[in-house]
Amino acid sequence: MRFQQNVDLGPLTTFRTRGAVAQQFYWIESERDAREFATAVVPSVSEWLLLGGGSNVLPTRTIEVAACMQLPGRRVVEEGPDAVTVRLGAGERWHACVQWAVSQGWAGIEAMALIPGTVGAAPIQNIGAYGQQLSDVCQWVEGIEIPSGELRTLPADECRFGYRDSIFKHELASTFIITAVAIRLVKRQEATVAYPELARALDGIARPTISDVFECVVRLRKRKLPPPDVGSAGSFFKNPIVPVQVATSLAERYPSMPQFPFNGAIKLSAGWLIEQCGFKGVRRGDVGVYDRHALVLVNWGAAQGTDVVRLAAEIKDAVRARFGIELEEEVIIV
Ligand SMILES: Cc1cc2nc3c(=O)[nH]c(=O)nc-3n(C[C@H](O)[C@H](O)[C@H](O)COP(=O)(O)OP(=O)(O)OC[C@H]3O[C@@H](n4cnc5c(N)ncnc54)[C@H](O)[C@@H]3O)c2cc1C
Repeated sequence: MRFQQNVDLGPLTTFRTRGAVAQQFYWIESERDAREFATAVVPSVSEWLLLGGGSNVLPTRTIEVAACMQLPGRRVVEEGPDAVTVRLGAGERWHACVQWAVSQGWAGIEAMALIPGTVGAAPIQNIGAYGQQLSDVCQWVEGIEIPSGELRTLPADECRFGYRDSIFKHELASTFIITAVAIRLVKRQEATVAYPELARALDGIARPTISDVFECVVRLRKRKLPPPDVGSAGSFFKNPIVPVQVATSLAERYPSMPQFPFNGAIKLSAGWLIEQCGFKGVRRGDVGVYDRHALVLVNWGAAQGTDVVRLAAEIKDAVRARFGIELEEEVIIV
């Protein structure tokens, strides 16, 4: 397994903050590397961090051991007249896999175009966008158990997928290295569009294809999200889910508050709450809140990870004081 010492973690994340170093750094390029990392490296250290594309992580300090998942592979494992099951290596770039699926005429993930990061991280928070989420297509997740090194396959119904949540954030948080994900896609050119913003953006196309959806999502995301040279991890907080009674009383006080039914509860817009507290476009030195999207915290250049944590705490305090709602980080702070 390839190994380096004292690696700056900033450039390995999309936030690109300063002030975080891994004393030992490993590159996981095969299942054998993953097994060696799980059995020989992890058990001998007190803390470690596994990175994919670093697009949902904010490292803030020196850490003993880190690794980067780079295991490749894309393979059709089952094909029928209407659908295919593909097995994707954990180190594959998610967006490249979406692009590949669309080019083959396989529907099911086209609205998740341009989500940064790797396939292996996709199940962790059950990635989703524009009405699609990984759990809609996931068949199983393969990984290496720590510390035994055994290969285990988890069927999707054992992954406990939820909104930005899965078993990999809880019971299996530090004991499972995902090595592959299998997804089932449908052979169909015509797209199903369930998400209102996407449907509006596709207005004018009578019967949108999955390529239309893919291109439209790419356009929408490029307009809303910071350009690649500005550090960020996308949405910093999750959208809060509150009981119906809480949402009703908030709606009485704030009639323009966006609210969305969600599994018998109500999902609120964290971006709206943050904007109402006056943070949209705010800048504190090199850290700020993106002026086109209040849910995105940005590093304008030389921010430390701890600067981002400080601004996030300020935002949480303001939202709690004004709305009585506790924002929860989507980004994993280390
Ligand atoms: C501009 C931008 C837009 C984004 N938009 C969206 C969006 O629309 N929807 C959405 O859901 N997310 C979005 N994200 C968040 C992010 O892209 C996803 O969470 C993505 O899945 C993270 O992948 P990664 O490889 O970068 O993971 P990392 O950030 O490297 O890691 C994330 C977590 O997964 C763990 N992990 C990574 N790989 C493995 C593995 N192989 N086995 C076990 N654990 C692992 C890490 O330890 C860490 O805890 C966005 C991020 C950015 C920067």
